[in-house]
Amino acid sequence: MNEKEDFEVTNHKHEIIACSSCERDLVDVWITRPDFPVLQALRASCPFCEDQSYIIDVQGGFHLGPCDGVAIASCDTDDSRYEDKDFYFITTSIGAKHDDSQD
Ligand SMILES: [Zn+2]
Repeated sequence: MNEKEDFEVTNHKHEIIACSSCERDLVDVWITRPDFPVLQALRASCPFCEDQSYIIDVQGGFHLGPCDGVAIASCDTDDSRYEDKDFYFITTSIGAKHDDSQD
């Protein structure tokens, strides 16, 4: 059984950040507040090949979750902005598989 936290999970959009090099799924971005008028750019490091993901654009408030086999070490906002958006850099490491979910 996989019990997730119970906060408004209905109809939220997911964006998956994948590595630009090995194309593994790295971070699951959950758009929890799509009406929030902020545009952000996200990029993640890849723990498998030491490369980085593509930059994805996210509109609204969001929650981050690691994809299978990935752990999120930190998420830093940079002072730098990217094409007029707030820029987040997510540092990842190799993590556990999702079989036992933990918070
Ligand atoms: Zn990679």
